[in-house]
Amino acid sequence: MKVVSTKVYRGPHLYSELPMIQIQLDLGALEQWPTSSIVGFSDRLTALLPNLWEHGCSYGEPGGFVRRMAEGTWLGHVIEHVAIELQCLVGMKVSRGKTRSVKGQPGVYNVLYCYVDETVGLAAGRLAVQLVNSLLPEHLRGIDGLDEITDGGEFTDLAAGLKALSELAATRAFGPTTASLIHEAERRHIPVQRLDDSSLILLGQGKSQKRIRASCTDLTSEVATEIAADKDLTKLLLDQAGLPVPTGKLVRSADEAVRAAEDLGYPVVTKPLDGNHGRGVNIDLKTEADVRWGFEQAREHGRIVIVERYFAGADHRILVIGGQVVAVAKRVPAHVVGDGVSSIRALIDEVNRDPRRGEGHSSVLTRIEVDECVEHFLAISGLTVGSIPAAGETVMLRPTANLSTGGTAIDRTDEIHPENALIARRAAQIVGLDIAGIDFVCPDISQPVSRTGGGIIEVNAGPGFRMHLEPFQGRPRNVARPVLEMLFPEGSTGRIPVFAITGTNGKSTTARMLNHILKEAGCTVGLTSTTGVYLDGQRVMTGDCSGPRSARVVLREPSVDAAVLECARGGILREGLAFDECDVAACLNVAEDHLGLKGIDTIEDLAAVKSVVVESVRRGGWSILNADNEHTAAMAEHAGGQICYFTLKDQEEWPDFLSEHVARGGRAISRQRMAEGWDIVIHEDNEAIYFMKVSEIPATLDGWAEFNVANALAAVAMAHCHRIPLNTIRAAMREFTTSFEDSPGRLNIHDGHGFRTILDYAHNPDGLRALGHLVGKMRERHQRVIGMVGTAGDRRDVDIRAMGELAAGLFDVIVFKEDDMLRGREPGTVAALMQ
Ligand code: ATP
Ligand code: ATP
Ligand code: MG
Ligand code: MG
Repeated sequence: MKVVSTKVYRGPHLYSELPMIQIQLDLGALEQWPTSSIVGFSDRLTALLPNLWEHGCSYGEPGGFVRRMAEGTWLGHVIEHVAIELQCLVGMKVSRGKTRSVKGQPGVYNVLYCYVDETVGLAAGRLAVQLVNSLLPEHLRGIDGLDEITDGGEFTDLAAGLKALSELAATRAFGPTTASLIHEAERRHIPVQRLDDSSLILLGQGKSQKRIRASCTDLTSEVATEIAADKDLTKLLLDQAGLPVPTGKLVRSADEAVRAAEDLGYPVVTKPLDGNHGRGVNIDLKTEADVRWGFEQAREHGRIVIVERYFAGADHRILVIGGQVVAVAKRVPAHVVGDGVSSIRALIDEVNRDPRRGEGHSSVLTRIEVDECVEHFLAISGLTVGSIPAAGETVMLRPTANLSTGGTAIDRTDEIHPENALIARRAAQIVGLDIAGIDFVCPDISQPVSRTGGGIIEVNAGPGFRMHLEPFQGRPRNVARPVLEMLFPEGSTGRIPVFAITGTNGKSTTARMLNHILKEAGCTVGLTSTTGVYLDGQRVMTGDCSGPRSARVVLREPSVDAAVLECARGGILREGLAFDECDVAACLNVAEDHLGLKGIDTIEDLAAVKSVVVESVRRGGWSILNADNEHTAAMAEHAGGQICYFTLKDQEEWPDFLSEHVARGGRAISRQRMAEGWDIVIHEDNEAIYFMKVSEIPATLDGWAEFNVANALAAVAMAHCHRIPLNTIRAAMREFTTSFEDSPGRLNIHDGHGFRTILDYAHNPDGLRALGHLVGKMRERHQRVIGMVGTAGDRRDVDIRAMGELAAGLFDVIVFKEDDMLRGREPGTVAALMQ
């Protein structure tokens, strides 16, 4: 088999509204070998990947896919399921995919499957191709073009491949804190985008966006973070506020440490001034020798060492978010419980066999490691790792309870005494953190520390959520929820209104009209179009910006509170839309253009691509469709939200579907011929609302430029469906012009020297035909109309000839001009075809 190409669809696309990876495969001779004809294939595959038994596939129940293999399905389809399964095996849960044969190319398939992480998804596809290939009989084996997928390894056995894949997945996966926040954001329908290779995440869009990095947010103050990182300064501020903290001293030598301990009174604690994860911390030091040893330990982690009073009791973590205590965990240091026969080392090994224990922060718990600190801590009680504790005896292995050194956590959220909670809330506020992890030591969290003794050891910025999300004991707490409530209050989804415009002709003009209306309505608009990206009217990027990359620029822009996006065919085919859903979309028309490019051969294919845009309209949104074009009218069946049609036809000439739609109370906007000129009329709820005269819109040249009337109807419909007041829309349309400065090449008119000159970008037969109306009108007033006509070289010969033929009917004199960019044609060919 041969890998033809790969694509990553990051938004809704031709095959699905879900992001998917597409691998185009040419099965070649394997087209003659469905699974049922390859002896033992299905058995070999399911033996390697037994979870394939769970795949429902078209039967929608476990075993469905295996049944399909028994009945006979093609290997592209198998690769799809294997790619999905491999991702699941490395912890990236996905389930959807589809495989479609490519029209007119027997044996060629588009294999599509969902992904969580693009890199892992691609690597899984690559491995899937290799794995399926390795299970084929010798004479059918062989892969061409494997590197089309991604540059990864080559594997003949599953184990090695899976190991590499899970290593890759581990580098790409998020930590538990970030993962919980992403999960909660997705649950709330807030858009999520990863901004870097680690954990910087963008939530929401435009002006409503917020960023997070693990549990630090856009609201986390840098000053507060710095204060929290300085334990001594934190204690100073909390002490000044009357909060309970262990008094202490900063020391630089062992002698100073001993003096400090004597001043404070034993027992004491030694720790580095700016340490973390409990490194170098030693508690309950009762003698001079202990303090000297503790000083040296702390010194390894920082130049300055704190000696402070020891608070007796258990270690608690109080999580304060947005001024509220949202979770409390009691943290228990790593320990083992004896059975009377096993050594401490054997008991540790046993504890580490718990599948919940992994390396670092990625799993629920972390394995206990025997290091110098453990050995020393045991030595204090006269033990070694070889000692055998009595049955039922608990042996603590470390002084501190950090999860990352093997500690466990017990949820105590419901037990915290209100006085302790108040102390924690004030501490977070005094340090100035929106999200703070307060380390609180006391004998019993349900008793006030004013009575039991104890207090705040430390305030942590960016605290981990792991111990609250999945405590070892007690109720798990969804602490991600209050973070998102703080960032996006009142159920906000962090979205800005998104307007998407597609069609063969008129996209840029309509987008500019809508941009103008929204600006009039007070919005800071981000606009993408074929001439560039504009932020609040300023061009910030130049060039063809009608694809998803430019759209993403706008959606990420912090100043933007409405996005108007021109969505051209090329970008939709290349990587899908830049957004998962939009509020209002318009499909202006579908006409012959770009046919024969990128697998789009018929006008129906083209309509299917453009339909993706209106299908992405959210529930409660609007799809604006051209009722005069059969292809756009037909999109009503799959379009999202409610439908509003626009038409240039007088009501008397409406097709039945339109009359019926309006009779049912549906919405449409039309041009109506009156005694003098034309009116624009909005039909809705069985009422006809006179909106304005066509001639009041300068861009229509008194209604002569019919295509701009159509574009104006679409723009007005989009704005009206978004509930912009009609007065605002009217005022904006009266002002909108098509000067060369505003929209170069879109119906720019210059009168002078006894000539009227029109510069227009009509670049396909339909566009030129539309311009023809205007040329016809000009004939009535002018003696002679000279046309200079060109078209792009990558269009089909028939389309280029059609341009020539149309021009012949319009102008008195024609100059055929070729583009500077020939797009693959020999000089002179395009002009010759038109001629
Ligand atoms: P982390 O990164 O987990 O916050 P850290 O390196 O910042 O750790 P501390 O929080 O200062 O270190 O100390 C670690 C643990 O040591 C505390 O959670 C607590 O269990 C214990 N501890 C520290 N200081 C004292 C004290 N004065 N009295 C009692 N126990 C203490
Ligand atoms: P592109 O595909 O190049 O981005 P576009 O869809 O953005 O084009 P515009 O730039 O708005 O379209 O218009 C290009 C030309 O197409 C205009 O100058 C005009 O000649 C013609 N045109 C504009 N609107 C329409 C329409 N609604 N129907 C037919 N032709 C139109
Ligand atoms: Mg701490
Ligand atoms: Mg355009």
